[in-house]
Amino acid sequence: MVFLSVNDLDVQYQSQGKKVHAIDHISFSLQEKESIGIAGESGCGKSTLGLAIMKTLQENASVSGEILFDGKSILAIPDPEFTKNIRWKQISMVFQGAMNSLDPVFTIKKQFEEILKKHDFHEDYKQVIESAISSVGLPRSVLDKYPHEISGGMKQRVVIAMALILKPKMVIADEPTTALDVLVQAQIMTLLKNLKKSGLGIMLISHDLGIISEIAEKIGIMYAGQIVEFGLLSDIYKNPKHPYTFALLNSIPSLNNTTKITSLKGSPPSMTNLPSGCRFYDRCPQAMEKCKKEPPKVMTSSGFVMCWLYE
Ligand code: SF4
Repeated sequence: MVFLSVNDLDVQYQSQGKKVHAIDHISFSLQEKESIGIAGESGCGKSTLGLAIMKTLQENASVSGEILFDGKSILAIPDPEFTKNIRWKQISMVFQGAMNSLDPVFTIKKQFEEILKKHDFHEDYKQVIESAISSVGLPRSVLDKYPHEISGGMKQRVVIAMALILKPKMVIADEPTTALDVLVQAQIMTLLKNLKKSGLGIMLISHDLGIISEIAEKIGIMYAGQIVEFGLLSDIYKNPKHPYTFALLNSIPSLNNTTKITSLKGSPPSMTNLPSGCRFYDRCPQAMEKCKKEPPKVMTSSGFVMCWLYE
């Protein structure tokens, strides 16, 4: 059963008189309990996608298209109703850098209580908070601490527990391991894998394809506001089609493969002045004349790829 379906989603920001096309008509879908990785460089629109699904975009954003979540058209739901019934209860998010948003003057317990109060939760707070904190492998004593008294890894577990406290069906995790050392990263990934095993759907937003490979069944590769390749992670990692996906995978060092890794030259186009043809044209080693003039169409096979090489 299709659980999340994003259809022709488009997000534009108005900034200083300019239009920033952060997400350009993207579509993909997920089945229940499936997890997806959204990968791409900084500024490609991956965080905006998460914020659009959570309906937490800034006021200068205009959104069109459709997001169906568990059969409901999210964008059509009035905000008070979305806040009351869906955000955090059905779908929640670990925001990028969320551990830095913990309030330094309140204990962790107090901050959990705030979430429950905000969502009109009427059951026994104590039991629910203790169960949330132990579900991420932390001792109850953490609840009486202030944020500065616990480590970065513990803070990240706390914000994950906060995202899970109302037992959503899906969590969007935006760069959940960035700024953590490799050992703590591994602990957070083990935690996310265990949550996935327990039936939680996860959308993992990351620039790190290695981390995504640990958790996702599907992957969307974003470039300059578009999903340029989408499909089963196993297919795309074995046989990447889009030259950008190929370059991303080629930039990962491997213990088994001694082939020289290569870096991708250049940088993505300005989002306020996008080229008329393929957005990857200037960086693409396989670019053709046609690519400069005409934006590539979506070519569908088991997933899809947006590149004239597969016309
Ligand atoms: Fe490269 Fe052309 Fe494909 Fe764009 S459409 S990725 S420029 S081959």
